[in-house]
Amino acid sequence: CGPQLESVILSKMNFEAFVRDLLLVRQYRVEVLDLVESFVCDSELRQTCHEDLLRRFPDLHRLAKKFHRHTATLQDCYRAYQAVSHIPALISALEKHSGNHLVLLQAAFLTPFMDLQTDFTKFQEMIETTLDMNQIDHHEFLVKASFDPVLSELREKMDELEKNMQAVLNSAARELGMDAGKGVKLESNSMLGFYLRVTCKEEKSLRNNKKFTTLDVQKNGVRFTNSKLSSLNEEYTKSREEYEEAQNAIVKEIINIASGYVDPLQALSDVVAQLDAVASFAVVTVSAPVPYVRPRLLGEGQRRLELLQARHPCMETDADTAFIPNDISFVQGERSFFIITGPNMGGKSTFIRQVGVITLMAQIGCFVPCEKAELSMVDSILARVGAGDSQVKGVSTFMAEMLETASILRSATENSLIIIDELGRGTSTYDGFGLAWAISEHVASKIGCFCLFATHFHELTALATQQLTVHNLHVTALTSHNTLTMLYRVKAGVCDQSFGIHVAELASFPPSVLAMAREKAEELEEFQELVGDSEQGEEPEAKRRRSDKQVRLLF
Ligand code: ADP
Repeated sequence: CGPQLESVILSKMNFEAFVRDLLLVRQYRVEVLDLVESFVCDSELRQTCHEDLLRRFPDLHRLAKKFHRHTATLQDCYRAYQAVSHIPALISALEKHSGNHLVLLQAAFLTPFMDLQTDFTKFQEMIETTLDMNQIDHHEFLVKASFDPVLSELREKMDELEKNMQAVLNSAARELGMDAGKGVKLESNSMLGFYLRVTCKEEKSLRNNKKFTTLDVQKNGVRFTNSKLSSLNEEYTKSREEYEEAQNAIVKEIINIASGYVDPLQALSDVVAQLDAVASFAVVTVSAPVPYVRPRLLGEGQRRLELLQARHPCMETDADTAFIPNDISFVQGERSFFIITGPNMGGKSTFIRQVGVITLMAQIGCFVPCEKAELSMVDSILARVGAGDSQVKGVSTFMAEMLETASILRSATENSLIIIDELGRGTSTYDGFGLAWAISEHVASKIGCFCLFATHFHELTALATQQLTVHNLHVTALTSHNTLTMLYRVKAGVCDQSFGIHVAELASFPPSVLAMAREKAEELEEFQELVGDSEQGEEPEAKRRRSDKQVRLLF
């Protein structure tokens, strides 16, 4: 639930499945909320799962895919074995829980984990009897030598070689005047095989010693060898290759059997993922600056979306921002379309995005950053926010905006939530306003879904006088002599002031430019008043003459 959450919702998510059976989905979401509540109330369970046990699981979905394609290695089998060995710890953590939703918790996690533990019993036995666990400590994934006489012989030889290499380490330590295993160490990796290593500080003791050859110098020390160690290493590498060849048939058999565990492995992956999601929801709920609350998902009946003191989940985590919460209340047939106006940087985008994010969070079963939240399920959250040019595809900002809006108008139903953050900026004012008006009217009168529309077109606010369900909201700011203070409060009604010139002043525009801007703005206001006063009952010819006069007045 980091900043990605916002980008997920803002990329036009369409929950087609929700349309199919909203009731069923609602029931399922309520259950997820119950599970999250269990983890919110039980801090021990939450911490054990989130901070400890779940972190130990590898990417099981990827492992299952490898098993399915028969491309798994012995190391993959060991990874699956390790994952399975963490199940008992999860079971005992879940068994300790005694909250209100115990039965649900058992059905969702405890029983599946217990079943999976049984499913993997034979797999665990196979890995324990076939894999050489001692070698795993050295990151070697080999079949146990006792499985085959050839392997046993090779293992003996390799153990002998290792002993000899240990002796080389001891004599090198004596030669360099250091402690074996402390100042100078014997190590191995898949690239170099066995080598000796001293820290960079001790490098000078090696410098003039012809008995040793430096292999490379790294941050963690100087790796080197001598003739004896190189020949032992060569022999060891050869034996290891022979060992791998000899174990090939057995490895194939193990991987073949392991491939039969694709389904339980995928099932384990799913349950662990669900547990991870639920535990993570609970973690964000309790660790937010102000704890989240459980949303109430409404059933059938009048559609509503009511958020009290809602906050933006990402922005409120910024320690430098004292976040101002706001309310919103959609009621189908009464208040379904809100036009939001106000100064730039006044918090319009933040407000409409937070409503979208909170709706998504509630619907996926997460608690939400509000004081109270009651909402009907939506079948999709359709958003048009922050368009960028897509030069590669040859799409301008304006075209991208239009394409997105067209797709919104095509896919929205009366159960959707639409969020539009500015529209029509990339074309002439008249075109832009015309489009904004037509789109809003279509959404409000034909689609009838919940919609938030942030715009700089003040004229759009007049739509509220024509459509009953359309209402105006505005973000507030305080202006005094030389300052403009944003209040970030969302209030009912139209913004009665324009703040553009104030912002230009704050941005230190030259005074002459500011004076000219004020003059022109005043002229424009006079011009609009003139239009309003003389519009009614005017002859076309008189209208044309007046309009010419107004243009001359302006320019
Ligand atoms: P607009 O869309 O009106 O231009 P934004 O929503 O982009 O404004 O907000 C601009 C900045 O104002 C944000 O980056 C954030 O720092 C601050 N802001 C917005 N809303 C709030 C809020 N409710 N409380 C505190 N700060 C806010």
